[in-house]
Amino acid sequence: MISTESPTYYTATRKYNLSFPTLDHDIEADVVVIGGGFSGINTALELAEQGVTNTVVLEARHLGYGGTGRNGGQIMAGIGHDLEKIRSSVGEQGLKQIFEISELGAGIIKARIDRYAIDADFCHGYGYLGFNERQARTLRQWEKDFKAINPRDEIRFLGGSEVKQIIGSDAYGSALLHMGGGHVHSLNLLLGEAQALVGHGARIFEHSPALQVTYGERITVRTGRGSVRASKLLWACDSFLDKLEPELHARTINTYAFQMMTEPLPDELIQRISPIRGAYSDIRPVIDYFRVTRENRLLFGAATPFIERIPMDLKAWNRALMLKIFPYLKNVRIDLAWGGPMATSANLFPQIGTLSGRPNAFYVQGYSGFGVTPSHIICKVLAEGMLEGSARYQLLRSVKHARIFGKDHFRPLLLTAGKTVHQLSGFFNGRR
Ligand SMILES: Cc1cc2nc3c(=O)[nH]c(=O)nc-3n(C[C@H](O)[C@H](O)[C@H](O)COP(=O)(O)OP(=O)(O)OC[C@H]3O[C@@H](n4cnc5c(N)ncnc54)[C@H](O)[C@@H]3O)c2cc1C
Repeated sequence: MISTESPTYYTATRKYNLSFPTLDHDIEADVVVIGGGFSGINTALELAEQGVTNTVVLEARHLGYGGTGRNGGQIMAGIGHDLEKIRSSVGEQGLKQIFEISELGAGIIKARIDRYAIDADFCHGYGYLGFNERQARTLRQWEKDFKAINPRDEIRFLGGSEVKQIIGSDAYGSALLHMGGGHVHSLNLLLGEAQALVGHGARIFEHSPALQVTYGERITVRTGRGSVRASKLLWACDSFLDKLEPELHARTINTYAFQMMTEPLPDELIQRISPIRGAYSDIRPVIDYFRVTRENRLLFGAATPFIERIPMDLKAWNRALMLKIFPYLKNVRIDLAWGGPMATSANLFPQIGTLSGRPNAFYVQGYSGFGVTPSHIICKVLAEGMLEGSARYQLLRSVKHARIFGKDHFRPLLLTAGKTVHQLSGFFNGRR
């Protein structure tokens, strides 16, 4: 097992000294949210901005304990890993609309940072990287697709020696520069959003795990020492749900990703690694992803490409991958490594909707390892659904949520099979 208690880059550089009480009495609210990550806080904040402020967020540990406080901080374009996987649910026109919605993410994050003066090291500059000619063709197509939808952003395909304009590595033969994307300190972003949320009058309780939910016209959520009664509920626990709501538990499976950070590096070395001080990922079905931080560290993350397993020594495992890309970093010290689970859906697309027969019990989960930007888009749409509803909420909730059979007994086996199929399909969709 992986320890979810170990320190991360984010806990080590957290700027907000925020903490919230434990719930120890019975309270009433309009909305109760279970889970204090990007999903829970962002949906509550979207509701607050629309005037619904009598909201309570219950967090089992502390804000950002889940994926939100462990990720790479990459601000990438899109939602889901491959929109083709949802074509059968939403049809051609629906796919087009989702592609349009999926480009809103960086703008939402940027607007939120500006509106609430959040100190989260937002930095523009993203490079999608290709190793071979097939991937170069895919990146050329992405260049057209991205430009069609983001006419104002700087978006540029780079081939051959041009690649070095944005990344100091011989590993890649092509790149797509997207200055609309970038990276962010995700924990400080979350905490800034939480501060904004309480500024609107909402209440947050930490160390207050939901232990039992009783559904009805008014829903009651019990914690160890108190309860919340509300007209609407949102489940936002992603990979930490732990069987509490069986209908949701059945629809995702947890896979793991692992991160490390180097010691602070000299300016010249950072300039060589990343002349744009940006974030990067290759476009294989299971990506390596990395970025520079404000303190001149390199953050590097990855998941196992075929066999689902947790490496024994995360520092050594990530370092070996990093050295394939940047061999000249062989003498650089690795200061920290950590990891965490990611709730993954069968079609790798996030899930929103209401529980069967319970129109006031909403949920969001299943970002499949790609949730920093998507959570900001999805939760905007979800909040619309929790208010009067909207066409784009109906569209996103119409994406099918398959059950994953056997997940409790054969998790590594199912994920290894799933990753193998995903990798093979990468040959056909230009990503391998
Ligand atoms: C190692 C790693 C690297 C990643 N890298 C990236 C990346 O670079 N880019 C990207 O886009 N995405 C990345 N992701 C995915 C992204 O971080 C997640 O998709 C996103 O943060 C999910 O947010 P969330 O709010 O839905 O869930 P979480 O952040 O996991 O929050 C769920 C919260 O619910 C709480 N909870 C659970 N049960 C209860 C309960 N009973 N009562 C109260 N609270 C409860 C948990 O304590 C937790 O805080 C990564 C994830 C991991 C683990």
